[in-house]
Amino acid sequence: MAKKYSFACKDIGMSCGFRTNAASENELMGKIAEHAKAAHNMASIDAATMSKVKAAVKTE
Ligand SMILES: [Zn+2]
Repeated sequence: MAKKYSFACKDIGMSCGFRTNAASENELMGKIAEHAKAAHNMASIDAATMSKVKAAVKTE
């Protein structure tokens, strides 16, 4: 059974209802990066935010 990766913005303290999931961590990070750019005006995710994001990613 393949793992699923999911992430919710609120899990890193954002007041944002965005959540997403993907079949791989790579795909998930791509979706998060796109969202961060479009919704949070982050052209790139800095290292501190990235480690928070990675800690908040859930697998099931
Ligand atoms: Zn968000």
